[in-house]
Amino acid sequence: MPDRLQVVNPATEETVATVPAATAADVDAAVVRATRAQTRWAALAPGDRARLLRRFAATVDEHLEELAASEVREAGHTVGNARWEAGNVRDLLDYAAGGVERLTGRQIPVPGGLDITLLEPLGVVGVIAPWNFPMPIAAWGTAPALAAGNAVLLKPAETTPLTALRLAELALEAGLPEGLFQVLPGHGPVTGSALVEHPGVAKIVFTGSTTVGKQVLAKGSALLKRVTLELGGKSPNLVFADADLETAAATAPMSFLDNSGQDCCARSRILVQRTVYDRFLELLAPAIEAVRVGDPSDETTDMGPLISRTQLDRVRSYVDPDATGIRGKAPEGPGYWFPPTVLTDVDPHARVAVEEVFGPVAVVLPFDDEADAVRLANDTPYGLSGSVWTRDVGRALRVSGAVRAGNLSVNSHSSVRYWTPFGGFKQSGIGRELGPDALTAFTETKNVFISTEGPAQ
Ligand code: NAD
Repeated sequence: MPDRLQVVNPATEETVATVPAATAADVDAAVVRATRAQTRWAALAPGDRARLLRRFAATVDEHLEELAASEVREAGHTVGNARWEAGNVRDLLDYAAGGVERLTGRQIPVPGGLDITLLEPLGVVGVIAPWNFPMPIAAWGTAPALAAGNAVLLKPAETTPLTALRLAELALEAGLPEGLFQVLPGHGPVTGSALVEHPGVAKIVFTGSTTVGKQVLAKGSALLKRVTLELGGKSPNLVFADADLETAAATAPMSFLDNSGQDCCARSRILVQRTVYDRFLELLAPAIEAVRVGDPSDETTDMGPLISRTQLDRVRSYVDPDATGIRGKAPEGPGYWFPPTVLTDVDPHARVAVEEVFGPVAVVLPFDDEADAVRLANDTPYGLSGSVWTRDVGRALRVSGAVRAGNLSVNSHSSVRYWTPFGGFKQSGIGRELGPDALTAFTETKNVFISTEGPAQ
């Protein structure tokens, strides 16, 4: 494997930087430094840890434009999205900082004494991040893990190490102790594997493909390592005949085109009640055609390129150029461009209808009634997100209850909010991140019983 990672601007195909790839020996050395730093970090007063994390958040905020520009260059994200992403890191750190002084155990009534639970840090946590949201996903694991008293070793994806490396510098600038938060760019099978197999790493937070996630779980289980998996998705957007069709059609494009469809929550299976199917497509077509695809640094751009040539080839493999549907426009020339694409008349079991494309491609499938809608929505191995469009509150609740997915949204396309738990059912993952319990997931519960029995009379 090459000893340097090449970072390429996906909108121009120009090399932005090369970065040394961490070896297994680098991981060993990082674990030693992190273990030392974690012991001191956990011993700090909770208020001091919270203050340092708030200072880290403020430092990220001061460098928001710089981080966003870096994300545009290395990941091809639109500048609006990239600013949101850097802001999300700041918010996650602030939110986690608020938890440090509220991370309380319990006092349990028992006979003969006092029983309390302590929430102790795990130690060193490994965060393995993908390229599709390099900053937010790195911070989902890192912020609560640090807040709960752990050290973090972050391995960014091969193609997007730059913002992660900059975040580590900003952490030091904010006053976080040396060694507490280290970034190890590298190849998955080398650096990622070394983290998973290292006995000094107590937990792995993995976000990425289902295939690699299963390998991480298998390898981690040999050491009984705590493992959280956030994996792929193939999420439904259910549109019932009684819905506000105009709004449902106007919002459907960006629900699967945001981040060029490289979003595990992309609503890439649009399921529409048969009685309004034609009308919905009439409304959807101009909305798809209006999506502006181009230079991600242009403030008016809605959608940028795909991350890499590999991803472009993968997305192309799902779309027959002669298939019927709606197609938007994409630039020609250098860059990994693919136009917004909606396929109609698709077999519900075709690859494109059930596999995660991770590109700007959706299928539209008709359904007859509520039971048929739920059956279709659940007819994939995944269970991450989904949207339900209806004006009937009872139906919204019934369908939200029946769809086997971790994050559902009614009359909207919301999935990821740092205040609320996020994670998948079925092949979409194990465990939850974010939300009020995020810190607890980075602790071990210790039970202590203190006898109140006096000396024998
Ligand atoms: P990937 O699984 O190839 O890589 C993810 C990370 O794992 C990278 O950092 C990679 O270097 C590392 N890795 C690769 N092989 C490894 C190994 N053997 N051991 C340890 N680490 C290894 O996925 P990707 O292509 O980077 O990301 C795209 C996928 O991620 C999509 O399938 C998408 O749905 C999924 N994803 C899921 C979520 C979620 O929250 N559920 C979020 C974002 C992305």
